[in-house]
Amino acid sequence: MVNVFENAIGMVERTADLLDFERRFKGMQIIERMRIPDKTIEFRATVQLDNGPLKVFHCYRIQHSDVLGPYKGGIRFHTDVDIDEVKALALWMTMKTALVELPYGGSKGGITVNPKTLTVTELERLVRKYVFRLVNDIGPNIDIPAPDMGTGAREMAWIFDEYRKHRDAAQGVVTGKPIELGGSLGRMEATGRGVVCAMLEAAKNMGLRDYTAAVQGFGNVGMHAALDLHQRGIKVVGVGDITGSVYSAQGIDIPGLVLHQKKTGRLEGFPGADPMEDVVTCKCDVLLPCARENTILADNAEFVQAKLIAEGANGPTTPEADAILEKKGVVVVPDILANAGGVIVSYFEWVQNREGFYWEEEDVNARLFARLRKAYARVKDMAGRRRISLRQAAYCIAMERIVQAMIARGVQ
Ligand code: NAD
Repeated sequence: MVNVFENAIGMVERTADLLDFERRFKGMQIIERMRIPDKTIEFRATVQLDNGPLKVFHCYRIQHSDVLGPYKGGIRFHTDVDIDEVKALALWMTMKTALVELPYGGSKGGITVNPKTLTVTELERLVRKYVFRLVNDIGPNIDIPAPDMGTGAREMAWIFDEYRKHRDAAQGVVTGKPIELGGSLGRMEATGRGVVCAMLEAAKNMGLRDYTAAVQGFGNVGMHAALDLHQRGIKVVGVGDITGSVYSAQGIDIPGLVLHQKKTGRLEGFPGADPMEDVVTCKCDVLLPCARENTILADNAEFVQAKLIAEGANGPTTPEADAILEKKGVVVVPDILANAGGVIVSYFEWVQNREGFYWEEEDVNARLFARLRKAYARVKDMAGRRRISLRQAAYCIAMERIVQAMIARGVQ
């Protein structure tokens, strides 16, 4: 069984060794301060179902580190949500915001629930209960939630509205809101667009031309990444989600697949594409895993045919799979870089809320791409100089920034 938090902290430990933290910051307890979150909030939410009975839900908010600014991180609704998963996701947020130089720390929240089993009114009651319990722990200058798996603009609107009942000046308490409630243009598409932007930088560097792509996950991140690829004229030959996967060597009509998925709830059965076993190992040049953690494992990494992977999901590649891919010469643009587009535009939304001045979508996208390209260039440069992977280089840059801030701030 893969423990996602142990995998996450393992990467931090390897980075600390590489950067010689033990000697440079003797006695500063860097690893312990990264391993144990600032605050772990675990609680129950009881909700009345529409037909009468009550249901109890397990809820979490992990505030990993605020050394670089207020906590920032999404909220996940999924049946697999547990404390280790949320801790790993919060740690990755700390790394991500540091890497792309946002004035934020890292956090994450979650509820162990399959949102599809609740009605809209039950879901709303659950979200409001979650916020009510956290009202002293979140806030525009404290901890700012956003969407993640199983949540979107609708849930963010309820968070904003519930928080407003208890506190003033609430718009910046949550990002990923609907546009009418102070959301940013381009936020919904930002993570997917960012993955494609990071992928394009790497493909250019590698000299790839006329390449094909495959996308795992067809939710917020995967669908917008696939649409962006399609719009750019890059052939998407494979797409997969939890219900199954489809393939067409001629390229899939992605806008058509979006409509088909909306209508049938599945990818299979789409005219012009055949069902296939596993999108991770399908014939393609570039693979975008945009579903969830631990989908590229020791078992299937060996059979990956792509030359380049850009991680849209958080933690899709286990350390064992990572080692196999490295040996095979597959270039991996790591999650903390490739999927940072979401938190970058969340930051823009927060800034727009504070200013009360709203940007055009072209401005949002131009600033998003500029920030991502700059981060990619720094990572690429560090990887080249130290002869390390892009993932290792990204962690070196993020951790150096976090630790310098920790030291500057003293003992927190
Ligand atoms: P989502 O719930 O909108 O979509 C998830 C997709 O993954 C669905 O299509 C689902 O069918 C598919 N999926 C789930 N398990 C799968 C499996 N085992 N195999 C194949 N497909 C599977 O979620 P999302 O918001 O798109 O998030 C996806 C990933 O991206 C997560 O790891 C999330 O943490 C990360 N991420 C999301 C954002 C964001 O802005 N939403 C930002 C950064 C990172």
